[in-house]
Amino acid sequence: MSHRKPATGAEHQPDPATYDCRSCDRTWPCDPAREHLLSTTPDAVQLGIRLWAELENAAAVLRHEPPSVLFERFLSWARQQTQGVIHD
Ligand SMILES: [Zn+2]
Repeated sequence: MSHRKPATGAEHQPDPATYDCRSCDRTWPCDPAREHLLSTTPDAVQLGIRLWAELENAAAVLRHEPPSVLFERFLSWARQQTQGVIHD
């Protein structure tokens, strides 16, 4: 890279071959990616659908990871983050 832009969550996308973040090399979703997902997908149901699609993609790559670990990594954090946001 010739220069670095200020980091935004939008740049934190998963590498489809490893599901590590392309921007910061942490496991995806990293903290900036989570913030970006929350800010761009405020609806808890939509966020869940989006993350489930990512989990399915990741599961095909991360075959050594137990499903429970992937569930924690992709879905549990979002459920915690969106708790209390939903009003019936
Ligand atoms: Zn990242």
